[in-house]
Amino acid sequence: MRKDFLIFGNPHIGQPEIDEVVASLKSGWLGTGPKVKQFEEMFRAYKGTEYALALNSCTAALHLSMLAIGVGPGDEVIVPAMTFAATANAVIHAGAVPVFADCKRDTMNIDSQDIERKITPRTKAIIPVHFAGRPCDMDAIMAIAKKHNLKVVEDCAHAIEAEYHGQKTGTFGDIGCFSFYVTKNIVTGEGGMAITNNEAYANQIKVLGLHGLSKDAWRRFGDEGYKHYQVVFAGYKYNMMDLQAAIGIHQFKKIDEFWKRRQEIWQTYQDAFQGLPVFLPAPVEANTRHAYHLYTLLLDLDNLTITRDQFLDCMTKRNIGVGVHYIALHLHPYYQQRFGYKPGDFPVSEWISERTVSIPLSPKLTYEDDLGYVIEAVREIFNKHRK
Ligand SMILES: *Cc1c(COP(=O)(O)O)cnc(C)c1O
Repeated sequence: MRKDFLIFGNPHIGQPEIDEVVASLKSGWLGTGPKVKQFEEMFRAYKGTEYALALNSCTAALHLSMLAIGVGPGDEVIVPAMTFAATANAVIHAGAVPVFADCKRDTMNIDSQDIERKITPRTKAIIPVHFAGRPCDMDAIMAIAKKHNLKVVEDCAHAIEAEYHGQKTGTFGDIGCFSFYVTKNIVTGEGGMAITNNEAYANQIKVLGLHGLSKDAWRRFGDEGYKHYQVVFAGYKYNMMDLQAAIGIHQFKKIDEFWKRRQEIWQTYQDAFQGLPVFLPAPVEANTRHAYHLYTLLLDLDNLTITRDQFLDCMTKRNIGVGVHYIALHLHPYYQQRFGYKPGDFPVSEWISERTVSIPLSPKLTYEDDLGYVIEAVREIFNKHRK
C-alpha cells in the first residue's frame, strides 16, 4: 500500500517553468505581455493557423467563439451530451440553446447520425468534442456542416496533439478551442487558446476578451507612447497573464516528450487489462493521431459484483486518484430543469455515464512505483469482484 496519494492528472512541472515564473515576477510584468505573445506564436506555429489567441480558459475561448460566429438568442448549437459542462454552458452564455446529441459507444465521440437528427431551422453551429484526445469523425461532421450551412467550433480541450487524416484538430472548423487547465496535456494553471484562419473572428475574440477595448489596447502600457483606447463592446475579462504564459512556454517545448510518455502508459494499460471484466478503449483509428488525454475503462457491470462508484472507492482507498469523464449533461439538474432533458434521452451517453472511470495518465507517473501499482490495484479489484 503506497503512503502518498497518487493525484489524478498531476501536472509535470520542471525547473524551467519555475524559473520563468520567477523571472516574470521579478520583471514586474505579470499581466498580458510579451510572454503571452510568445506562447501564442508557439501555438500558432504548431497548429499552422493564421491566428492563435491566448485566453484565461477554454471555457472563455468557447464562449467568445460562439459570439464571434454570431450565435445568439433564438439559435441552437448541437453539442454532445457526453462532455464537460463548459461546452454547453458556452452556448447558454451566448444566449442560445445547447441541443444535445448522443455519442458512439466505442469512440465516445459525438454520433454524426444523431447530429443530423437534431438539426432544425434554428441550428447555427456544431461543437464536436475530441473526447479523451481521440479525434471525431471530422469528414462526416464537416460534410453535415456544409450541407446545412452550419458553423463548426471544435472543443479541443483534450486534444492538443490530435490529428485526423493528417490534419490537426482545431483546424477543421471555424475556430478551435484548447485548455491548459491543470489536468490537461499542457498546463498553465488556468488558461486557454482559440485558433482560427479567419481574421474577423480573431479580431472579435481579441476585442471581446479584453473588455471590448479596441485592438491592441494592452500596448498602451508599453514604451511606444501613450495610446488612447476605445470601448467598442461591453466585453469580458478573459485575457491570459504573462505569469501563465511563462509556464506554458516551457510546457509546450515538452509537448512531444509528454505525448510519447502518455502513449506508452496508454498502451501499457491496454496490454495489462486484457481479459478483465471491462471494456477497454477502442484501438486508435488508422490515419489518426490520438492525444491520449484520458485512459478510460468501462466497467462490464453484467460481469461484476460492484458498481462504478464502488470501484472508485476501492481505488481511492488504495491511494489512487480517479476521475469520471463524464456523467452525461442531460442527467444534471440544470439542463433537465431548463431544457426538459430526462434520463433515457441519450442511451449511449447514459450507458457510458454509469460505467466510465479514468485512471491516472500523467507523464509524471513512474514505471515501478506508480504505473505498476495502478495496474496491480485495477487487476486485483476486478478479479476480486468478478461474477
Ligand atoms: C476542461 C474542459 C473544458 C474547459 O476547459 P477550461 O480551460 O477549464 O475552461 C471544456 N471542454 C472540455 C471537454 C474539457 O475537458
